[in-house]
Amino acid sequence: MAIQRNAKPVDINQRRVINGLEADVIQLYPMKHKFAWEYYNAANSNHWLPTEISMQLDIEQWKSPTALSQDERHAFETILGFFTTADSIAANNIVIGFYKHVTSPEIRMYLLRQAYEEAIHTHAYQYIVESLGMDESKIFNMYREVDALYNKEAFILSFNEGVFDPAFKTGTFEADQKFLENWAVFSLILEGIFFYSSFAVMFGFQRQHKLTGSAEQIQYIMRDESMHLNFGLEIINAIREENPELWTQKFQDRIIELVHQAVKLEYEYARDVFPTGIFGLNADGFKEYIQFIADRRLERVGLPAQFHSQNPFPWMSEAIDLAKKKNFFETRVTEYKTGGALNW
Ligand code: FE
Repeated sequence: MAIQRNAKPVDINQRRVINGLEADVIQLYPMKHKFAWEYYNAANSNHWLPTEISMQLDIEQWKSPTALSQDERHAFETILGFFTTADSIAANNIVIGFYKHVTSPEIRMYLLRQAYEEAIHTHAYQYIVESLGMDESKIFNMYREVDALYNKEAFILSFNEGVFDPAFKTGTFEADQKFLENWAVFSLILEGIFFYSSFAVMFGFQRQHKLTGSAEQIQYIMRDESMHLNFGLEIINAIREENPELWTQKFQDRIIELVHQAVKLEYEYARDVFPTGIFGLNADGFKEYIQFIADRRLERVGLPAQFHSQNPFPWMSEAIDLAKKKNFFETRVTEYKTGGALNW
């Protein structure tokens, strides 16, 4: 990185998400992408740690031979199996795929925070597995053994190829499109679709007063993830605005096609988690739910809805809306030491 001595003050109009001034990355002010700074502050107000949440009820229920059905145990294990590796994939994307190529220091600030949150999430799954005395090698290796998990994760990882190459550089039309494609897959699909049927299942448990400690962990994670998702969609829109030439019809069709593939993979996963359906949640409900959220993600980046399904789990939107209120309308920085309990 070269810095010119006595160069003119930074012109924020030259600041860009990618392909901006190289020397600009260590100079936070003057800010251009102010939304990133807002996300950074909101995320800090939401700070939490897995060890602050009591797992006592979960431990009792998991050890009891009657508290949970076989289907419920299967669903819970499969969800953990997916989550344990998914947040590590997310962390790698931020640190290896995005950070180096982002030339806006305010966006880099939030990415640093986001990467730490992905680590906290992986810690939360580790903490659940350890607290309940589950078989670590079974849960953490499940993504290699179960097709429905493997297919989702392999799908995401296939977009990292190229972008994770140490020689990869943005600055050409092809490279910039590849970078944007990886970010779109990360935000729209990994964070926007692949987490949500598992979130719904965990709310199903919570509504039945089952595994409530784990469910609370997942609520905190969902609060963070809903910010990650919204931030990622804002980044995509900022890149589109700064580089409109990348957003060709062919590229838009490609993103839509990938979302169709992702909806299919997520539905196959939901069928695997719920072979017979529990808590009134069944595979058909999931199909509609996955289609419903996929349309919402597409619309946020200016792409047309594809499925036009109704939301079969309206309680999920309520939970997410409440999470957003907590994120953006409360400033609780000084309250963190109290444990930052969730009251929604
Ligand atoms: Fe995330």
